[in-house]
Parts: sequence; structure tokens; C-alpha cells
Amino acid sequence: MPGLYRQVIMEQVLFQHNRPGRAVTFTEYCGEGGFDALKKALKELSPNDVQQLVIDANLRGRGGAGFPTGKKWSFVPRDLPGPRWLICNCDEMEPGTYKDRVLLEANPWSLVEGIILACYAIGVSHAFIFIRRGYETAAGNVRRAIAEAKGAGLIGDNILGSGFSCDIDLHVSAGRYICGEETALMNALEGKRANPRSKPPFPAVKGLWGGPTVVNNVETLANIPYIIANGPAWFKGLAKIPEAAGTKLFCISGHVQNTVCMELPLGMPLGDIIDGPCGGMLPGKRFKACIPGGASTPFFTEEHRGVPMDFDTVAKAGSRLGTGGIIVFDEETCLVGATLNLVKFYARESCGWCTPCREGLPFVVDVLARLEAGKGETEDIDILREHVKYLNLAFCALAPGAMGPVEGLLRLFEEEIREHIIKRRCPFSRGNN
Ligand code: NAD
Repeated sequence: MPGLYRQVIMEQVLFQHNRPGRAVTFTEYCGEGGFDALKKALKELSPNDVQQLVIDANLRGRGGAGFPTGKKWSFVPRDLPGPRWLICNCDEMEPGTYKDRVLLEANPWSLVEGIILACYAIGVSHAFIFIRRGYETAAGNVRRAIAEAKGAGLIGDNILGSGFSCDIDLHVSAGRYICGEETALMNALEGKRANPRSKPPFPAVKGLWGGPTVVNNVETLANIPYIIANGPAWFKGLAKIPEAAGTKLFCISGHVQNTVCMELPLGMPLGDIIDGPCGGMLPGKRFKACIPGGASTPFFTEEHRGVPMDFDTVAKAGSRLGTGGIIVFDEETCLVGATLNLVKFYARESCGWCTPCREGLPFVVDVLARLEAGKGETEDIDILREHVKYLNLAFCALAPGAMGPVEGLLRLFEEEIREHIIKRRCPFSRGNN
């Protein structure tokens, strides 16, 4: 079903080389235009040209924050002595998000090509791919791809005789969620405890071993070869609205028919995604709400069905596009319980470095658990509200992320919370209705 929609309604970019049940091979990828962008760039384009094409294409970071990629590259000081670095963040662990795994299980080559192109643009001679511990198949594909690309002269010294040299190393994470926060990730790579560092200075200025470091997501980097090959106008034209550019890998889960990762144009309205490629709700179920962009994003409801799924439009509507992990809930779902479930994850994964996160998240879990069990009081609603404000002051993005669904719950489903308090039970739990 999703395959059918791919053919019918949209252009596949990142998924265009996909083979059923296995990764595309080096020969197949090259036969379909793979590495042509790298060859073109090294022969015809300066590093600045490559950066400018990425800026003009309006490529925005696909790891969740949507920061403009070319702009991030432009922050790297070019005149400082000493090495600079590129890190590909593949420590994908946001609940509801699995796009980088799906991409790398199908095709590690666009990432490898994108990394070399990015390194060429920024003047980096050593890149790291930091991959989630459990992503064994993806890691295996990437490891083999690096070895094969090295064998073909596409990684290493004097790539394709251009004079540009660049190496890529794969590093497997120790396995905590916080390792995906870019500054904690750099500490982990340096062999230190993975606590986040304060920003600024941003990594682009002072990062790995104190050198300028660009941290880009897998999906972001995998888009680069196609931008270089086809140009910014083509890339912008892929999106459904003029403000957006490119496609997005959406990870669908929850109460819809097709729970898979699908490549869709940015700017497609939420309702069209649910009714179209997602195949609609499960039989007999009605849409109640969704988390639009991974576990850290506030809920959307029926009233948001028309919102084009793009960074700015979703933000204007009160949530975030985030990672594109859409979690759909039917009308029988208790959203107090769903929020509790999400916040429990963050509480468990807090690194414990700063007090608001270490102490605040378990406290919010307790309040939500009480409410869900029908043991809450009206003042708990204000307590939750205060904690949303308070935890937004935490040291890194983890605790504010955890407050995303809590803020959405308070804003959109206060009545549902009150119902738990008044009825002294969860109105959705079976046997109690
Ligand atoms: P952020 O907005 O602080 O930064 C985004 C990127 O832009 C970073 O690389 C940062 O260094 C850079 N940046 C921002 N301002 C800059 C400036 N003035 N100068 C130079 N560089 C600048 O967000 P973040 O904390 O890196 O990421 C938070 C996001 O990560 C959340 O939106 C969440 O959706 C997402 N997330 C994703 C996953 C996942 O599994 N993919 C997991 C957790 C969180």
C-alpha cells in the first residue's frame, strides 16, 4: 500500500534506489547515478559553490530542529589553524522515530556520498558517523559501504585524483538517549561521560576536541548528492508549499493502517498524510490526536488536519515538525496515559547533570501517574503548568523536549485531565466505563 502511494503521488528521492528486503549494492547505486554528484563537485565546483547550492536549496536539518544546513556550514571558521570535523548523528532514539534506520538499511551510499560532499564544502578531512547501539544492520551496511567506497577511491587520499582527501569512521554509541544530543555526543566520542556541554559556543565554532565541528543528521546529509546533482530549484520544487524544500521521511506509528516509514513531500497537509499514504485509521476507529514530529512535540488534533507538514507551518500551529515521527491516537486513547508513557522515557534517560531535569522529570511522572490513576487533584494541573515552565530552563533540550507533550496535553486536553480527577478513575480504562 505505501509502495503504491509512492508511485502514484510523489517523487521518491532518498528511497529511489530501494530494493525489496535488502540494501542497494554499490554497483546498482552507481548504475542509477550514484556518486555522479561527487564526481561533478570535485571536478567542476569549488567548496564554496557546494555550500552555496545547499544554502540556495533551503535544506533544513532533518534531525528534529530544522536548522538551515548551509547556514550551519557557513558558521565554520575557515581561517583557524588545526583540524575541523564533521559528525553524522545517527543516534536516532526519539520515540516514534526510525527513519534513519530504515534509510540506512535500504541505502548507505547516499549518506557516504553526502558526507564526502559536505566535508569537501567545509574543508573537513575526517568525518565520524555516530550510530545508535541497536542499529546493527544499518551499521553493518555503513561499514561495508565505507570499505567499498575506499576500495573505489571515493574515500581516502586524493579522492578521484582531485587532491581532496577525506576519511570516514563509524562509531557505535554506548547506548543512551542523551548521547544523541550533539554536545553530549562529542563528549562520548572523546571518551568522556556523555553530559551535554553549554551552547554557545555552538559546535560549528568549538566542538570535537575544541575544533570547529558540523553535526548533521543522516537524512540531511543523504539529501546533499541529489541537491548537487539536480540543483536548488529542483529540490525546492519537491515540496508542496513554496516556503518548504525537499521531501521528508515520515515515520508513522499508532492507530492507522500503514505504520511504515514513508518519503513524502514537505508541506503535505497532516490529514492528507493520514487519509492517504497512512491508509486512514484502523477499521472502526476515529482520529483523536497525534504527536506530529516525534515524542518531544505537542499534540495535534482534528483542527490541525489542514496544517501543511513543514517546519515553519507546524511551529506556527503550536507544535514542531521535529523528526517527522507521527504517532496517531484513536478516540479510545487516554492522552494522560500516553503523555505519562512518553515522559517516563525521558525521566529514565535523563543524564542527571542538571537539577531541573534530574529531579523535575520523575516528579512530573509521579503527578501524571496520579492523575491517570484517578488519584489526582485539581491543583495538579497548575503544578504541571509550572513544571512545563520550569523544565524549559534545563541545561539541554532533553527536559524541554519531555515537556512538549505535557504542554500540548494541558493546552488541548485539560478537560480530559479534569475528567480523571472528577471521576476518580481513568475514563478510558476498560471495565471502568
Ligand atoms: P538546536 O535548535 O539547539 O540546534 C539545532 C542545530 O543548529 C544544532 O546543530 C546547533 O548546533 C545548530 N545551531 C543552532 N543555533 C546556532 C547558532 N546560533 N550558531 C551555530 N549553530 C547553531 O536543537 P538541538 O538541541 O540540537 O536539537 C533538538 C532537536 O532534536 C529537537 O527538535 C528534537 O526534535 C530533536 N531530537 C531528535 C532525536 C532523534 O532521534 N533524531 C532525538 C532527540 C531529539
